[in-house]
Amino acid sequence: MNTWKNNIRMVVPYVPGEQPKKAGVVKLNTNENPYPPAPGVKAALENFNTDSLRLYPDPDTKDLAEALAVYYELKYENVFVGVGSDDVLATAFMTFFNSKTPILFPDVSYSFYSVWAELFRIPYERPALDSEFKMNPKDYYRENGGIIFPNPNAPTSVCEPLDLIRDILDHNRDVVVIVDEAYIDFGGESAVPLIQEYDNLLVVQTFSKSRSMAGIRIGYAMGNRELIDAMKNVKFSFNSYTMNRFALDIGIEALKDKQYFEDNLAKIISTREEAVKELEKRGFTVLESKANFLFAQHSTHYAGDIFRFLKERNVYVRHFNLPRIDNYLRITVGTEEQMKKLYEELDNYK
Ligand code: PMP
Repeated sequence: MNTWKNNIRMVVPYVPGEQPKKAGVVKLNTNENPYPPAPGVKAALENFNTDSLRLYPDPDTKDLAEALAVYYELKYENVFVGVGSDDVLATAFMTFFNSKTPILFPDVSYSFYSVWAELFRIPYERPALDSEFKMNPKDYYRENGGIIFPNPNAPTSVCEPLDLIRDILDHNRDVVVIVDEAYIDFGGESAVPLIQEYDNLLVVQTFSKSRSMAGIRIGYAMGNRELIDAMKNVKFSFNSYTMNRFALDIGIEALKDKQYFEDNLAKIISTREEAVKELEKRGFTVLESKANFLFAQHSTHYAGDIFRFLKERNVYVRHFNLPRIDNYLRITVGTEEQMKKLYEELDNYK
């Protein structure tokens, strides 16, 4: 009876942050950028040739990959483009993590990693971060099937120095090491320059956060040619046309406006530093952040209670009911106006 059920790939999916439909929500729950994309993006959309939609997009994503290569002083062969970094990371898991020995990632890190590992049946182990949510490189000296970690980490916002990444790479020359740099532009030091030295390093970034384009879905991986070719082979065995024509066009536009990009980052970093002080005044301890969000714990109130209180008042932040972090709030850095609303509501919390 119903034996077909035995052959279903049963998975527990990743749960993304809520996207409320109602108006007036101060949305600080999914690490989106509160400012619009570069003005050139709007112009490119307005001038988009809709006739071209008859045709398939470029399966090689050549123009965008080339623009990224120029931006990062790499070659086209060193760049893989996908539908947001989630798509790029999923492709990387499938491509590189095929050993029977467990892959390693920190116990507190991006919760999608364990979901992909389960989906692709990759064994994994999660070395514990220390009490300050920092990585101990020695945890990664043991035999493993590959390594992945976000830097800055999510949801903690803690950024590790390049020395630590180098140390991990030096002890892991025989497996692929992936650094997920979704938040690197907000003040961390990127591992991209290490690609020249380590042929087993893959660095993944996204247009979703620092370029204000979460809605268009562009992510990319950078690494040596053999890694990128292997990812392309997997992609072309799955879906050739992942990137649509809109995304390919406006991705190139977004890269052109360096001034807008830097101004956008500067605003967020300054609001973030101000927010640390405002939260501390209100009894929170805040981890040092190099991302566009803060990870904060209150001295007397439970995070879950504050989360629910704020939500009732239309201020959405993120709370994870997970071991070690269930008494923290992850708060995306919004505009100054949005942050004021957050402080006002926190002041109303008794
Ligand atoms: N990596 C990390 C650490 C993230 O927090 C996110 C955002 N959820 C992603 C990757 C994926 O972002 P995107 O698919 O929008 O590029």
